[in-house]
Amino acid sequence: MFGAIKTKNMTAGVEPRPDPEQPGAFLPNGAAAKIGLNRSILDKGWYRIELATRSRVRYTGTCVITVNPAYTSQACNVCKVVDRKSRESQAVFLCTSCKHTNTPT
Ligand SMILES: [Zn+2]
Repeated sequence: MFGAIKTKNMTAGVEPRPDPEQPGAFLPNGAAAKIGLNRSILDKGWYRIELATRSRVRYTGTCVITVNPAYTSQACNVCKVVDRKSRESQAVFLCTSCKHTNTPT
C-alpha cells in the first residue's frame, strides 16, 4: 500500500439507523456531523501534500517514510511509553511515565 493517510477510509459515510418503533423512519446517526468532518479532512488535500512530498524527495536525496498512525498520539517521544492517559486533550500531552510534555508553555 502506497501512502499512510487513507482519507478514503477516514471519510466513509455513516450507516442509517432505522427507528424500531416507527417503520420507515430513521434515528439520528450523526450524519450531519460526519459530513462536516469529512469536508474538513478532504479540504486539507492530504493526497496532494503526499504527492508533492514524494515528488520533492527525488531532488533532495531524502526519502519518505510512512508510519502506522495507530497510537502515535498516545506515545511519548522520550520514553516511548504508550498510555492514553498521557493525552489529556488533543492539544495537551503529558507523559504519565516520565512527565515529558510537548505542550508549549
Ligand atoms: Zn515519557
